[in-house]
Amino acid sequence: MGTRVCIETWGCQMNLHQSEVIAGVLTSAGYVIVDSLEQADVVIFNGCMVRQLAEEKVFGRIGAVADEKRKRPVLLGVGGCMGQIHGDALIRRVASIDFVFGASGHHALPALIEQAKGQRVAALAEPIFESEWSVQRQSAVTGMVTITEGCSNFCSYCIVPYARGPMRSRPRDLILKEVDDLCQRGYKEVLLLGQNVNSYGTDQPSYGSFAELLTQVAATGIRRVRFTTSHPKDISETIFLAMAQSPNVCHHLHLACQSGSDDMLRAMNRKYDRDHYIAMTDLGRKIMPDLNFSTDLIVGFPGETDADFEATMTLIERVRFGTVFVAKYSPRPMTRSAELPDDVPASVKEERLDRVLSRQRMIALEENSRFVGQDLDVLVEGVSRSGLMYGRADDHRTVMCLGEAALGDFVVVHVEGTSVSSLSGSILGQENLEGSHDRHSDPESGR
Ligand code: SF4
Repeated sequence: MGTRVCIETWGCQMNLHQSEVIAGVLTSAGYVIVDSLEQADVVIFNGCMVRQLAEEKVFGRIGAVADEKRKRPVLLGVGGCMGQIHGDALIRRVASIDFVFGASGHHALPALIEQAKGQRVAALAEPIFESEWSVQRQSAVTGMVTITEGCSNFCSYCIVPYARGPMRSRPRDLILKEVDDLCQRGYKEVLLLGQNVNSYGTDQPSYGSFAELLTQVAATGIRRVRFTTSHPKDISETIFLAMAQSPNVCHHLHLACQSGSDDMLRAMNRKYDRDHYIAMTDLGRKIMPDLNFSTDLIVGFPGETDADFEATMTLIERVRFGTVFVAKYSPRPMTRSAELPDDVPASVKEERLDRVLSRQRMIALEENSRFVGQDLDVLVEGVSRSGLMYGRADDHRTVMCLGEAALGDFVVVHVEGTSVSSLSGSILGQENLEGSHDRHSDPESGR
């Protein structure tokens, strides 16, 4: 049996997909991927640096490996944005770490592990595209496909440009080849990934624009197309129209806003203001009335006044997001905002976080309740702990499905109930492609 490797991942979908690449590279080199560190000869932590909390979680898990090392020989490697930013300082700082790798260069991992058996080592590679390597995918339903790597926006609080380098678009033919391959292999959905997918092709004009790429990916015949993450300064009418014109492009958009205050958006170097953000969400809904928005928000950014925060509260009232991911500001190394005094008291950050969460819970419940009595097309993605099948509607809402179905099935669900985070209902039957239930058939079903 080959050397057993356990991979644990923190952070964004880009990191999740990179762990699929790491698993693919190691499996091709004869390693065996196992589920728990207790079974592993090599443990790999693909770490995240976007928030202090994420980093602390990884250091917490390092302790568990240190305990295991006291019982038997185990190699520990730390990578991803955490490895890229800290590099060999991690080796000096944490005795139980044997090797450190970066946010790319995963193809060199087999050699690095062999080297680490002899000496502790850190190897940070230049950011190159990894996805030409074999990928060991977690899902048999949704295939994640990288379209851009890195980011050149330099939002003042964000460490990504320092960890993943400038934005680089992946050659279009490689993307379409990967989507085609997923289609042939029976995948039902692709999720196009990038820190800012809307800027696809801006560094390589010959690759074409994101709207063109989206239309070409949809034309491959894959049943559903999703993409994340979008940026308000780059989303456009052209992209909305490309979404609306391809029936298999899902009507969900993760449009990270971060704050409702123009002063905060300026201090964050987000390059748009509140009015622009709202205008884009209104335009999106004018073109697709059933378009479901989700977003990211930061509370407690340096200098955030009560009035700034109230502007964030009125923004969530105005846009009525399906989902909001909100975090307390924490200064990140190398970022410009880390030079600013972190002057919002922890108690105020906590209170603002709670206010956003509690108001958003009510909005989500009110928005979800609009679907009671409707029939929705749902792609079955998994089985919940309670044994219920669950899946996603076209607009990304989670639907708990009562009845028989298999992973990857498209079923029609009659919505009978809702909660803050999901809808629930009975499976009426398999979806018949002719009459899809929730899309384009009833634009009035939107707002
Ligand atoms: S757009 Fe801003 S927040 Fe998003 S990855 Fe780039 S720098 Fe970070």
